[in-house]
Amino acid sequence: MPGSHIAAGMQTSSECPDLNTLVNGIGMTSQRTRDRLVKRLREEGVRNQDVLDVIRKTPRHLFVDEALSSRAYEDTALPIGYNQTISQPYVVAAMTDLVIANKPQKVLEVGTGSGYQAAVLAALVPKVYTVERIKPLAVLARQRFRQMGLRNIRASHNDGTIGLPEFAPYDAIIVTAASESIPEALLEQLADNGRLVIPVGGRDCQTLSVISRHGDKFERQDLDPVVFVPLLSGEA
Ligand code: SAH
Repeated sequence: MPGSHIAAGMQTSSECPDLNTLVNGIGMTSQRTRDRLVKRLREEGVRNQDVLDVIRKTPRHLFVDEALSSRAYEDTALPIGYNQTISQPYVVAAMTDLVIANKPQKVLEVGTGSGYQAAVLAALVPKVYTVERIKPLAVLARQRFRQMGLRNIRASHNDGTIGLPEFAPYDAIIVTAASESIPEALLEQLADNGRLVIPVGGRDCQTLSVISRHGDKFERQDLDPVVFVPLLSGEA
């Protein structure tokens, strides 16, 4: 009989969301909700239209646990397990703006976490390398990139304090965890005229800093206060 091969418990397509519905979202994960987030970011001072366009298109709800998806388009950091967080959209927008300023071809992100920041960068930069020290997070992020067809991201399970020397130099390096000091290896792996965007400071509050390389000289610019989870050494 036609249709009799459908196994017990399998849902028919009318009950089961198709891929488009999943990515585009409905209700609190809909395009309209994403548009509202973008409007808010613009009001908060994000000016870069390319960055705003990517945030409008990127399904942040797919980077958090399903139980939190209704909060995915609030401008707030959210837990992703293992004591880590997906960064606040405003911070992602501000850091992305700084990273893409001199049109990098190749970017390294330290601290993949959920993979959201890497996904945003992948829409704006030809090649993104991202490293995460917590293995289950690295594995999950890689799965997400594959499902979303983000083929220009290379995600690995590594301690990012030593950078990723095999693919260096990078036109830009972004660190999405807070460091008391600037890891020497990251400075070494910056291309000439490249820039490192990194939150620098203690546990409670840090300063978002941009370090630009000019030959052997490094110029540091301190921007806004931010709060990030700590950059830790070693793999977990
Ligand atoms: N960019 C992430 C934010 C993740 S929070 C996102 O968009 O979701 C910071 C992440 O940095 C955490 O997942 C943490 O495990 C990771 N991290 C901390 N120290 C690290 C290190 N030395 N190397 C690689 N990742 C590190």
